[in-house]
Amino acid sequence: MCNVLVSACLLGVNCRYNGIPKKNEDIARLIDTEGIHLVPVCPEQLGGMATPRCPAERRGQLIINAAGEDVTAHYLRGARETLRIAQLYHCSVALLKERSPSCGSRQIYDGSFSGTLTEGAGVTAALLRENGIAVFGESEAEQVVERIGAK
Ligand code: SF4
Repeated sequence: MCNVLVSACLLGVNCRYNGIPKKNEDIARLIDTEGIHLVPVCPEQLGGMATPRCPAERRGQLIINAAGEDVTAHYLRGARETLRIAQLYHCSVALLKERSPSCGSRQIYDGSFSGTLTEGAGVTAALLRENGIAVFGESEAEQVVERIGAK
C-alpha cells in the first residue's frame, strides 16, 4: 500500500479559492484503486485561509492576492503543514492540482492576474520536492499508478 498525498479539491472537497468544487474523476477513482491510499490536503486552508478567499498568484518568492496583499506567510505555513502530513503518513508521492500557487507542479500563473502561465511550481509543490517527495500534476494520474505498481 502506498500513501499518496493529494490535493483535496481534486476529490471534490470544497476548498478552492472561489468556493466552487472541481472534482477530477480520474483522481477520485483512485480512492478505490488497490495499492493506493489517498491522503487529502488543502495547503491553503492548512495555512489558515478561508474558503472562499481572494485569488492569489506567485510573484517570485512572494504570494500576492488580487487585492494586492502579501499573503506569503499563509501560503508558506500551509506548505509546511502539508509537508508535516506527508511525512507523518510516509507519502513518497504527491498528486496535486495543476497551476495553483500552492499545488502547481510545472506551470503557475505569472503574478500579473492576466491568465498568463509561466514555468514554475507552487510553494507547497516546491517544498515537497525539496524534501524528496515526487510531485505529479493531476493530468499525470496514470504515471502515478504505474510508478506505484497499483491495479
Ligand atoms: S491549495 Fe491546493 S488543494 Fe487547496 S484548493 Fe488550492 S489547489 Fe486545491
